[in-house]
Amino acid sequence: MAASIDPNVPGIPLASGLGWIAGPVSNSYYLREGSGQYLIDAGFKEEAGPIVSAIGRAGLDPRSLSYLLVTHQHPDHIGGAAYLHWAWDLRVACHERERPALEGTGPTTAPLFARLFIRRSPVAVDRALRDGDTLGPFKVYHVPGHTPGSAAFYHEGRRFLFTGDAVVSARGRLTLASRSSNFDPEAAARAVRRLAELPVRVVLPGHGHPVTDSPQAQLRQLYERVSALPSGRRRNLFGPEGRPETFPHL
Ligand SMILES: [Zn+2]
Ligand SMILES: [Zn+2]
Repeated sequence: MAASIDPNVPGIPLASGLGWIAGPVSNSYYLREGSGQYLIDAGFKEEAGPIVSAIGRAGLDPRSLSYLLVTHQHPDHIGGAAYLHWAWDLRVACHERERPALEGTGPTTAPLFARLFIRRSPVAVDRALRDGDTLGPFKVYHVPGHTPGSAAFYHEGRRFLFTGDAVVSARGRLTLASRSSNFDPEAAARAVRRLAELPVRVVLPGHGHPVTDSPQAQLRQLYERVSALPSGRRRNLFGPEGRPETFPHL
């Protein structure tokens, strides 16, 4: 990828038109495709400022962004959405099952501590997505498990896979989010199986570093590791090599 790295993107340039905006907890990404510019996820609400700053440092105008694609309803991914929508008219898209949680009209499946201590900032959803929909260069994969409406966004031409928290990374390896944050661990395992069928050059997860080291093989191995466990134990925390992963992924 090094030959085509484009420095004029917000955050850390990963490839042509692709930037990684690494927040203190979760990741956001920027992708430019033709005349379209997309943000994937918006961090905690405190991240809205740093995201806008990163866009400005790249010489871009936040008003020129086409869409914010939200992978799921957790506050470390949607927190900045309300500000970006309010201040810059940024349109917001998410899977239709997450819409009530984003708009504040329905319950959230965020873990208890998040419900107690993190105030929600509702945001209007401009486009509710379904499995198989396309938005710009992305195809939508509904991968419930972490939350009911978790979505992965796949760029088929460039084989970029934005997974949100359906798959995260730790120490360079792909893994599942923590037990406490997965709404349905069985479905979360099935989601990995589905994503493992995609030809992928880089996995861009909601937490941890992007993974370019055999990402498709890693997805397959992760599914095998998860599915080999008795179903009760799938509620346990999964880390690389099956070790417990202590970092709480919201
Ligand atoms: Zn999450
Ligand atoms: Zn998260």
